[in-house]
Amino acid sequence: MSKTRQVVVIGGGPAGIAAASAAAESGARVTMIDEGPAPGGQIWRPAVHSHPPLAAQRWIVRLNATQADVLRSTSVVDIERRNDRFVVVAESSGNGREVVADAIVLATGARERFLPFPGWTLPNVVGVGGAQALAKNGVSFRGKRIVIAGSGPLLLPVAAYLARGGAKVLAVAEQAPLANVARFAASLWRRPRTLAQAIGLRSAFARTRFSTGTWVAGARGDSTVKEVTLTDGRSTRTLACDVLCAAFGLVPNTELARLLACDVVGGAVRTDDAQMTTIAAVYCCGEPTGIGGVDLALVEGEIAGFAAAGVGPSEHLAARRAVHRREAASLERAFALRPELLSLAGAETIVCRCEDVRWGAIDQRWSARQAKLYTRLGMGACQGRVCGAALECLLGWPADSVRVPTQPARSRTLIGVSLANHQPNEQGAS
Ligand SMILES: Cc1cc2nc3c(=O)[nH]c(=O)nc-3n(C[C@H](O)[C@H](O)[C@H](O)COP(=O)(O)OP(=O)(O)OC[C@H]3O[C@@H](n4cnc5c(N)ncnc54)[C@H](O)[C@@H]3O)c2cc1C
Repeated sequence: MSKTRQVVVIGGGPAGIAAASAAAESGARVTMIDEGPAPGGQIWRPAVHSHPPLAAQRWIVRLNATQADVLRSTSVVDIERRNDRFVVVAESSGNGREVVADAIVLATGARERFLPFPGWTLPNVVGVGGAQALAKNGVSFRGKRIVIAGSGPLLLPVAAYLARGGAKVLAVAEQAPLANVARFAASLWRRPRTLAQAIGLRSAFARTRFSTGTWVAGARGDSTVKEVTLTDGRSTRTLACDVLCAAFGLVPNTELARLLACDVVGGAVRTDDAQMTTIAAVYCCGEPTGIGGVDLALVEGEIAGFAAAGVGPSEHLAARRAVHRREAASLERAFALRPELLSLAGAETIVCRCEDVRWGAIDQRWSARQAKLYTRLGMGACQGRVCGAALECLLGWPADSVRVPTQPARSRTLIGVSLANHQPNEQGAS
């Protein structure tokens, strides 16, 4: 009789939920580990005292119908190879835990991209998705004057969410030019559901100006942001506001993939038709393989989950993935970042906010490693997650190597693994 495969899925967003469901339904013993208090990831994060959205509920019911073990509010901080298996090291409320796996599915999602501009570190300047996450976690924006500046389809749901919650959304600025946005909108006739969704979201802030080809030039304030200047490159306008939401699209979370030495090309994890990375038995799905939205995350998750459990590929899923990948490519073209965004920072603008490193302190001839050694850039609590992605855009610096722990963790969590390494025959979860 063949041994039951132990699959660990890291991330409980749409991709992770689909992967865990597919692997468990195929007979694998599955553990899904997620930092969130409940499965759902970014898009399906439920607001406090409310249920997950309907689209999420179908998937969560499917996951709950399996025997998959779900570890909530738990962060994976290290993965080690032990013989032909993996030891996944996780921490929850300061307590370490190890789970041994035959196969890993990385479904770690994406984060927002922040580009430095004067004033971006002022209090009440937050990410676009970040503002939505705050609101869902109970922070009230009711009556607040809000400016939203950034890029991509995320601007619409966030503006709608904040407006429905009683915020005064003063302006939404999309950096992509009108022609790109119009071409993208026109292409939506092939996806009537998405088109209807977009129209519904726009109607929630119908009286607010949505400007294309417009971006944030700077923010001013003292103990908090007081005003923001928007520009289209020819003219500027300054708006008094209480909150500025500013971010420029998403970047894949590839730290754990890079820790495992998986190939990462152009910021995205490289996978084959079965979603396997360049490292055997390590699969990857959803945003870490490239920003593609929820439908692509779900189908890649299912393919990865089946493959991790040892089930062969499905033509039907592969065909759906191809369609969603084409849509993702058209999205990427439409919302490509304009070059003006790369020259917003002045010499005094902070680039690395953990270590207070200013743009003027960086010699553009350095490598990322040299900048780290000379200025401590990227060595703070976020370990370069914010400034690293920005400098990749601004200077073309590739991401530096990943160190353990990939996120702040207690030393006793890490010592647990070192001790276990001296007992090579130990198996199973502890
Ligand atoms: C801030 C933000 C807000 C967004 N809001 C929307 C929206 O309103 N509408 C929309 O259409 N799309 C939104 N998106 C895009 C959306 O996330 C994707 O389209 C889609 O949900 C991707 O699914 P995923 O499973 O790949 O990633 P995600 O949904 O991001 O899920 C990844 C999960 O992995 C977990 N994780 C990451 N690292 C670890 C670790 N080391 N240990 C344990 N768990 C880990 C994260 O906590 C997260 O729960 C948002 C993205 C971001 C970053």
